[in-house]
Parts: sequence; structure tokens; C-alpha cells
Amino acid sequence: MTSKSHPTWLEIDLGAITNNCSHIVKDTGVTLMAIVKGDAYGYGAVEVSRAAVRGGASWLGVARFSEARVLRKRGIISPILVLGMVTPDEVDEAVASQVTLTLHSPESLQLYAARSREAGQPVNVHLKVDTGLGRLGILAEEVAPFTRQIQRAGGIIVDGIFSHLAVAEEVLHPLNNLQIRRFRQAVTATQENGVRPRWIHLANSAGAFFLPETRYNMVRVGNVVLGLRIRIEEPLPDCYRPVLVWKTRLASCRVLPGGWGVGYGKSYVTTGEELIGVVPVGYGDGLRRMSGNQVLIGGEKCPVVGRLSLDQLTVRLPRPYPMGEEVVLIGKQGEASIGVHDLAALYGTSQVDITTHIHSRVPRVFIG
Ligand SMILES: *Cc1c(COP(=O)(O)O)cnc(C)c1O
Repeated sequence: MTSKSHPTWLEIDLGAITNNCSHIVKDTGVTLMAIVKGDAYGYGAVEVSRAAVRGGASWLGVARFSEARVLRKRGIISPILVLGMVTPDEVDEAVASQVTLTLHSPESLQLYAARSREAGQPVNVHLKVDTGLGRLGILAEEVAPFTRQIQRAGGIIVDGIFSHLAVAEEVLHPLNNLQIRRFRQAVTATQENGVRPRWIHLANSAGAFFLPETRYNMVRVGNVVLGLRIRIEEPLPDCYRPVLVWKTRLASCRVLPGGWGVGYGKSYVTTGEELIGVVPVGYGDGLRRMSGNQVLIGGEKCPVVGRLSLDQLTVRLPRPYPMGEEVVLIGKQGEASIGVHDLAALYGTSQVDITTHIHSRVPRVFIG
């Protein structure tokens, strides 16, 4: 597929992913689990995983078993951890395909132990501790009795122990130290009860870079693998490269008379004669139907005017451009750029909320 075959497409720079991973490994000095859940935040899990492994990622992390299955079917043999819940039906296939599961509750222990007895095969798990995010996990003070329960149940190999940080991008937040303390307590509790998990991991991107004591022997990184910022107002160090460019082409460029309505609801009205361009991208592709959107044309930011449609948007242009002129929605053009962080700031949300909402009808073109 080439960029000529579609009106709009994403370019994913796999070389940048490999580069980012090798820098993460170098900067943190520990094993990297590249987080590729949610189709690698919308970038394409299989290609991102391969590029991350080339850059030195030893593990891959997904949210659901179905995501791990796709990676295995495409020949990816790296260790994979499913971070979220699995259904009873999925456990056997997970074990058979050597996918590591998250043990996060007495119910999941019962399920895994039962499937292990049935299959006559051990289930590999990482034990999840809730140190203050309040999502999945065993409370730190319950880890000691829970570890004894694991051993009584049998058939479970605790290959790792982990927890997840709630506010690591706010370095000085008191919850960070509390989570670190509870996690240490949990790790000690497993060891004192005869279980020595090989992998100990607490850090996401923010922990890995802002709180070095959360690295232990593995970091779980999603954002920085993709060159996304940790804090949207703060650029990453120069060695980390953005991965995603969203491009399209101008569909039309016309002079409209003064007082002409543009967009549904006559949401914009020209003040005099204005050059209005039509771009074949709308809210059905993942942009939001709110004001303040901009696009890059001819190396300049141009304001989106009128309400976004499902498949199209309208922009006010400073000069005429031919049909087919390159338009950038995310990325650089000349000296101008719009980052995922800019859209996240505009929409008041996270960068991953932006990238995971770029619709699958926008083809991903992999470069490098
Ligand atoms: C998504 C996720 C991560 C990755 O977080 P980033 O901020 O993208 O690095 C790490 N750990 C868990 C448990 C996650 O769910």
C-alpha cells in the first residue's frame, strides 16, 4: 500500500520505535517490557512489537489474551504478560501458547489452579499487587497469606510480581513513596514465604524516567516507546523520536463569497470572500467535534472552521492550493508541527486517548 492509494493515512516510523527502545534500555539499565495493549495504542501491535524487540525489548505487555494470541499467531515468540483479566475459556490456550497471566485475586488463583490441574501443566503468572491505584491486585498486607494460598493450591509458577503507579508523573506526590513502600513490603512478603519472583516491576514510563527507585529489574513502558511525552507540557529528551505522522490531501480549495455558511448548523460564516479548503478527515476518523482544531498546509497552521463532519472538515486557507496538496494533521511540515500532545492539550485528555481513537479505516503505513 502506498500513500497514493488512500485519502488519509498514518505513517508509523518503525526505526524510531527501535531507536526509542534501545535508548530506554540504555537510560534505565534494566529489562524492558514494551506495552503494546490496545493495538499498541492504535499504532499497530504486531509491527510495533517487532520494532520494539529489535530495539531490545525483552518482554511484551498486553491487556487481553486476544491481543497476545494475535502476536503469537504472527510468529512473535517473546515472553508476553497479559496485564488484565482472562476468561476461563482463555486460560488453557494461554498456557499452551506460553503466555504469562496476571494473578490478581483469590478467584483468579482458583481459576488458574483448576486449569493447571486439569491440563497437568503449570500456569506462569506475575502476581499483581494493589499498592494504591485501586484497580486490580492483592493489597500489600495480604500478600503474605496469599502467597501461602498460592503454594497450597499448587500448579502456579510465580515468575514475577508487579504493581502499577497512580501519579508517577507528579514526582513529589506523596502517593509515590507510599506505593514504593507497600510494593517493597509485598516483595518481601513473597520472599519470606518461600517464593522468589524473578521479575519485579513497578514502573510505567513516568516511573522509569522520574522515579529510578521504581525500576527494580524491569520497566513497563508504552508512551516513551512510541515517542509520546510523559507529561504533555514537557518534551522528551532529543534522543527519543516521535513515531506517528497523520497525513491527508486537500480535496478542494474554493473562494466562497462573504456571508457564506460553512459546515452543518451554519457553524461558520465567512466575513468576506474567503478561501475555504476541504480536507477528507472528520470526527469519524478520530478527530473531535470541537473548536480549536488546526491542520498544517504549506508549512503553516491553518484553522479548522465550521463544525467537523463525519468524513470531512473545512479550513480557512491563506492562499490557494491545488487539489492533492499534502495536509498534516499530526506531525511536522516545514517548520510547523502539531504533536499528539497538542491535540491532547486541546481536547483536555491523554495522548493515548487521541491515538487509540484514530479509526481503523485510517490505514497505518509502516516505514523503515
Ligand atoms: C498501560 C500500562 C503501562 C504503560 O504505561 P505508559 O505510561 O504508557 O508507559 C504499564 N503498566 C501497566 C499495568 C499498564 O496498564
